[in-house]
Amino acid sequence: MTSTTRSPLIIGNWKMNASLGGSMVLLQALAHYKSSKACELAVCVPFPYLAQTQEVLAGSLVSWGAQDVSDQPQGAYTGEVSAAMLQDFACKWVLVGHSERRQRHAESDQLVADKAVRALACGITPVFCVGESDAEHEAGEAHDVVLRQLRPLLDLGADVVKQVVVAYEPVWAIGTGKSATPEQAQAVHAFIRECLKQSGAAEVRVLYGGSVNAANAKSLFAMPDIDGALVGGAALKAEEFLAIAAI
Ligand code: PEP
Repeated sequence: MTSTTRSPLIIGNWKMNASLGGSMVLLQALAHYKSSKACELAVCVPFPYLAQTQEVLAGSLVSWGAQDVSDQPQGAYTGEVSAAMLQDFACKWVLVGHSERRQRHAESDQLVADKAVRALACGITPVFCVGESDAEHEAGEAHDVVLRQLRPLLDLGADVVKQVVVAYEPVWAIGTGKSATPEQAQAVHAFIRECLKQSGAAEVRVLYGGSVNAANAKSLFAMPDIDGALVGGAALKAEEFLAIAAI
């Protein structure tokens, strides 16, 4: 995190965890966050907790968002949630293309880019997730995979790309307790940075995600192209999440 223009950003992804009562406790602990070094902090919560999140975090230094959005503006899309609905709850962020959605819901690279465009149209910043599987990692295909996943976004041009945040999340590191080493992550981040640069958007923030915790965050954040983190499991413990933000 050495760039002066790319301010640090840490986003918690609660996934399908917590309960109405549990999320209240967590949000109340986060609402008192004071940033000592301009580290932006955010949480992406399950849809049903957005109203509660807005109520508790409004006026705090912690922003919020959702974990998915429809690529469609409105209409007969049972079960989907539109960007305009997220806007109603003052969402600042939305995750698009998380590997759990790419895998479980067969989301294509194009669909993920379409979701990003839809979010931007409602003033919501997409956190565009990319990352290779275990097999692709073993085969040395990480760069090819992330470029393929980024391609439909990059094709939209610099004006669009400049407005997103990218999250590099190697699938083999998510929820496994086996984070990428800082050097492994930096190598892919530098590649992503180069792709962004060639698209005229070198200053887009690139977060790392995959088993980040208070113990390993410091060495990851020391890498020049890692601008913060997308945090899953450790974001469910307020103390640990705040400790990551304090690094
Ligand atoms: C995630 O799912 O976005 C994630 C990074 O999870 P974890 O931190 O638990 O690996």
